[in-house]
Amino acid sequence: MAPSKVLAGARVVLPTGTVDDGRVIVEGPRITDTAPPDAEVVDVTGHWVVPGFVDIHNHGGGGASFAGGTPEDILQGVRTHRLHGTTTLVASAVTGDLDFLARHAGVLAELAQQGDIAGIHFEGPFISPCRKGAHDEQLLRDPDPAEVRKLIDAAHGHAKMMTLATELPGGLNSVRLLAEHGVIAAVGHTDATYEQTLQAVDAGATVATHLFNAMPPIGHRAPGPITALLEDERVTVELINDGTHLHPAALQLAFHHAGAARVAFITDAMDAAGFGDGRYMLGPMEVEVADGVARLVEGGSIAGSTLTLDRAFKRAVTVDGLPVEDVVAAISANPARLLGMADRIGSLEPGKDADLVVLDSGFDLVGVMRRGEWVVDPQLG
Ligand SMILES: [Zn+2]
Repeated sequence: MAPSKVLAGARVVLPTGTVDDGRVIVEGPRITDTAPPDAEVVDVTGHWVVPGFVDIHNHGGGGASFAGGTPEDILQGVRTHRLHGTTTLVASAVTGDLDFLARHAGVLAELAQQGDIAGIHFEGPFISPCRKGAHDEQLLRDPDPAEVRKLIDAAHGHAKMMTLATELPGGLNSVRLLAEHGVIAAVGHTDATYEQTLQAVDAGATVATHLFNAMPPIGHRAPGPITALLEDERVTVELINDGTHLHPAALQLAFHHAGAARVAFITDAMDAAGFGDGRYMLGPMEVEVADGVARLVEGGSIAGSTLTLDRAFKRAVTVDGLPVEDVVAAISANPARLLGMADRIGSLEPGKDADLVVLDSGFDLVGVMRRGEWVVDPQLG
């Protein structure tokens, strides 16, 4: 077993607040509360230590896609995001042929079984053609509980979330089915009204898939899904904080209205994240990435992001001016709770997995630890 480590001198963000000159003790894969005398001391004075990031909506990175490809491709993407602080990742599949999705869910389920990913998010095919974003319209379907069940079964207990347009025929019954199976029902790629959205929440939906994106805007006579999702305390709203998907004022509005306890930062990343500009595929759709912005070659819709969560963190603090503790809630604690994993991850507490990120005073990432092992060694001397 690796020797115990004591990270000392940092500003440590704990569930109870930030401790200056704090320390985190790591023994084996977990955080503990007492250091053995032979522990290695890592001086992180002047840095922040925060919980590892948890991304519940992510399609790929490092040139690799979670929406298809071999296990090795998928791991390549997972490793890329780990280098950027994401120690827990749910792999998102985009709309595809139902049999393909079921087969691919089997591949992802094996990686979840091994602990490489935390589970599977199905984004489509049960979404609205009116708000399809970068999904292939030919393959969209109304939510049919039998087909929803087929995907849940294909994931062998590792389906974590499904995004659906709950206003479509079969939508509410599908939400109920997902909730019964412990799978998060997420409202998204939707054309629902305010009232229809509240019905979906009553039926068991608990997440808003990238709030604001791929749904009708707020109107004063038609408040729409955004208003319903922001005001209902049972809902956590996903936000893509890359400066492209959302105006900073829209992000502030979400934090102000939902509060930091009901926001989850996601990347919605595609293959180009941590890789570079060029041509890529997002499921069956061709995407051009220029200056870090991914758009469909045909039609020009935004097609996921090239975001990594370390950039989302830094932006939230340095551009949006959010308190560090609120950012930690949105990027670690809240998504961990949504996944039902808050007993293991999402905060720095004894007994939990030693998943953590070291940031310098300017909020640039300098270290990543996962299960007690350095993924990025801060090499602070
Ligand atoms: Zn997505």
